Amino acid sequence: MGEDHMERLIEGHKRFLAEVFPGKKSQFHLLAETQAPEWLFITCSDSRVVPDLILGTGPGDLFITRNAGNVVPVTTGDVDGVTATIEYAVEVLKVKHAILCGHSDCGALKAALDRKGLESMPKARRWLSHVEGAWSHRQALNPADGEHAELASLIRGNVVAQLLNLKAQPSVARAGVEGRLTVHGWYYDILTGRIEQYDEGAKRFLPLAG
Ligand SMILES: [Zn+2]
Repeated sequence: MGEDHMERLIEGHKRFLAEVFPGKKSQFHLLAETQAPEWLFITCSDSRVVPDLILGTGPGDLFITRNAGNVVPVTTGDVDGVTATIEYAVEVLKVKHAILCGHSDCGALKAALDRKGLESMPKARRWLSHVEGAWSHRQALNPADGEHAELASLIRGNVVAQLLNLKAQPSVARAGVEGRLTVHGWYYDILTGRIEQYDEGAKRFLPLAG
């Protein structure tokens, strides 16, 4: 059983070596010893969010950090993988944009909503305390979200909450003041494929593609 599933990946890698890599050889050659991504992309670990697919990007474009619930932990004495990655992206890679992207049907916010099923996952439960801020930034219910409107409004609220946490990161705040970094909050809808962007002036999400 497990063997079969691994076989799919091995076959995929063989196809990559035979059909994809040769055509991009010069690009990979350029990227082999350096990277200069313009975008830091912070999103959920969810398998249905495929940044390069929905944005038309490829190797060298997006510097990505992912975790359950696309969280940016509020700075504590502790170091964590997310904020360390953000610091590196801003200070060393000097990305021009930081994008915080949540998505529909997010399991992290679902768990926050029903608060069940986390008994056997002490680490996940502690991690999800980081999405508490979503409640105070919940967005207006959108009829287009149908029966999932309540969850979707909480997920959008989480994007707003994490965006604030992102801006509060010292490296991000500094780069913002110096005018070399812009931050964005997105909501990606798996069903429609559409991205919405948080408009800070209007305090609501609007279609990214118009
Ligand atoms: Zn998610």
